[in-house]
Amino acid sequence: MSTPTIVSFAGGATTGEGMVTRVESGPDGTVVVVDATPFHPVDHTWPDQPGDAGAIAAGDETVPVVEALMAAVSDESEFAVGSDIPVKRGTEGWTWLVAHRIDGAAPAWLDKGSRVRLSVDGSRREGLSRGHTACHLASLALDLAVADLWRKDPGADALGNPDFEGRANQSSRIHEDGAVDEYRLGKSLRRAGFDTETFAATLADREQRINAQLTGWIAAGATSRVETEGPTIVDRRRWHCELPEGEAVILCGGTHVGSLSEFSSISVSLDLTDPQLLVMTTTATPVV
Ligand SMILES: [Zn+2]
Repeated sequence: MSTPTIVSFAGGATTGEGMVTRVESGPDGTVVVVDATPFHPVDHTWPDQPGDAGAIAAGDETVPVVEALMAAVSDESEFAVGSDIPVKRGTEGWTWLVAHRIDGAAPAWLDKGSRVRLSVDGSRREGLSRGHTACHLASLALDLAVADLWRKDPGADALGNPDFEGRANQSSRIHEDGAVDEYRLGKSLRRAGFDTETFAATLADREQRINAQLTGWIAAGATSRVETEGPTIVDRRRWHCELPEGEAVILCGGTHVGSLSEFSSISVSLDLTDPQLLVMTTTATPVV
């Protein structure tokens, strides 16, 4: 029986040690599973934040890790990686793992039972953490900036405002120092009570409100952290951010900054070229 991978990225770790429990070769290279890792893997069902890159080493030998991703092994010993995993994260009957993808075949020193050192590319991780925190903040600011456009109650977001994000967000792609979010503005949103016509007619004003809100939140220098219910990759994790309006708590598998004072700015641009699809592009600038 396998045990789930122990992960330390939620606390901000970028280095760690572990024992290799599995090495599997496939058409996309080789994946290495370690019992414990600081690497954040891309999620296979909601791939918002890319997996960490970095290196695995033992003695004087090092091999680059291209990307960390989810893997799972069933009670019947079926092993699957990333988008090939046939079930949702956390499904019973599967053990959840972090896989480290390397190019080509595994070197001889990297084998089941090897003790290894793991190190994450720290500058990429920091950029992705800023991108992810900025993405959440922009979504909360968007909810606030369109709160007056609801004719019915759509439910509350993490700050108690009408949950546009929860109703309309269809994809979120985080990159270093930014994110791109897509929102479906179709019939079902209109039926849910959202005034898409007024929204389209006041797009520039909404964008300006979001950006003013983001500037205010950064100025307040709120703390940001991830809390976990346990040490493994499948334990639930939540992002907490103590904004002036209240503490925002969002279920989130990703990594985040420690404080909003790490940003010199966060801004968004709203695009409604396709009237059915709002594209929000978020750009973060770190303090130097
Ligand atoms: Zn998140």
